[in-house]
Amino acid sequence: MKSEIVSVGTELLLGNIINTNSAFLSSELAKLGINVYYHETVGDNRPRIMDTIGRALERSDLVITTGGLGPTSDDITKETIAEVTERQLVADETELEKIHSFFKSINREMTPNNIKQAYVPQGSIVVGNENGTAPGIILELDKGTIIMLPGPPAEMKPMFTEKIVPYLRSKSPGALVSVTLKFFGIGESALEHSLADLILNQSDPSIAPYAGKGEVRVRLTSRSAKGNGIPQSITNMIEIIESRIGQYIYSYHDQTIQQVTAKLLMESGKTLAVAESCTGGRISALLTSVPGISKSYKGAVVSYSNDMKEKLLGVKKQTLVNTGAVSGPTALQMAAGVRMACGSDIGLAVTGIAGPDGGSGEKPVGLVYIALSAEGYSEVWEHTFRGNREKISIYAAKNALNHLRLYITGQIESIDKTMY
Ligand code: ATP
Repeated sequence: MKSEIVSVGTELLLGNIINTNSAFLSSELAKLGINVYYHETVGDNRPRIMDTIGRALERSDLVITTGGLGPTSDDITKETIAEVTERQLVADETELEKIHSFFKSINREMTPNNIKQAYVPQGSIVVGNENGTAPGIILELDKGTIIMLPGPPAEMKPMFTEKIVPYLRSKSPGALVSVTLKFFGIGESALEHSLADLILNQSDPSIAPYAGKGEVRVRLTSRSAKGNGIPQSITNMIEIIESRIGQYIYSYHDQTIQQVTAKLLMESGKTLAVAESCTGGRISALLTSVPGISKSYKGAVVSYSNDMKEKLLGVKKQTLVNTGAVSGPTALQMAAGVRMACGSDIGLAVTGIAGPDGGSGEKPVGLVYIALSAEGYSEVWEHTFRGNREKISIYAAKNALNHLRLYITGQIESIDKTMY
């Protein structure tokens, strides 16, 4: 099914408000396996709305509009759609009654323009608005379906989730099933490049890649005829993706890296302590967002200064002088130091330059060392992340958790670096 989102509102064109409605609808439609081919934004102008809706109906099976359903004279979406589709506007008794009782309840005189909200194109399915007065409207036509939703996100989102999603599901043969694969260690463009032919020729399942901060995911959606289990087409597609970039998959259930790593840590029965410098406590915050982690997570030392690195973690002054605070040897000593100080099985440490200042030719902004220390094991990884201070910190924290995950699952070589 091809769908299209039409956002109505001059404010959007003027840049007065950001079009969050179309972003929300696109991501919700993707979850339903409905492809969105176009986003259109049009002002509150009759001929231009007519033109936009006419074109949308020519090329899309489903057109969803937002905005322009209210009582004022510039709210003309449904009037214009009624004209394009040659439907009379008729009063919907339930909505009329609702508007009357609403004004009665607030003890205010109802102005005639409010009645306008109860008028819908003939033959419409009226969708009650629990969070405002303008109802949503579904108009099923030979050419396709138009769904008109109110503009305010606080009205549009619950209406879509609670009423339109069940409607769209009821129209699709079989239940929709989605599997979301999460990847770590591969960028969005590299992932898309590896799957380019599959994405280009997709039919069943639909393949939708998304990028998050430091993580990438791919959602596969198909219909299950019996409504139970994962459709074979998805299982087959997962096998193809695994054969190409399987080493980067860390979750088949749309989990975050902290959820997956924390679960593995808890299952391993090992304990962890963290030494954080440039991440300033972010790793600790990510880990402690996972319920139940207290049995495995001892705590963190946020050793931002050299002084603290020496005093609390036992990093050698000589190391700090010779190699600097942002270096592999310092990271390794931080990991070993926090492990010892907290009496944990594993020590994880991060030190880096988050910028915007402090970089040099030899040690640029974004340079981060992540070290892990455990019984008979110690390793340090050097990364160079790009982005602003916030991004570098997020990447560093998530990569540290990813190294921990690979260590727990035995996916990394052990190299003894205790000589540092
Ligand atoms: P109302 O009954 O409030 O008039 P409406 O359906 O007529 O609702 P509009 O008048 O077009 O909707 O928009 C009302 C408000 O909703 C806007 O001022 C804006 O704050 C918000 N809004 C409208 N469209 C969008 C959009 N695409 N993205 C985000 N917010 C929007």
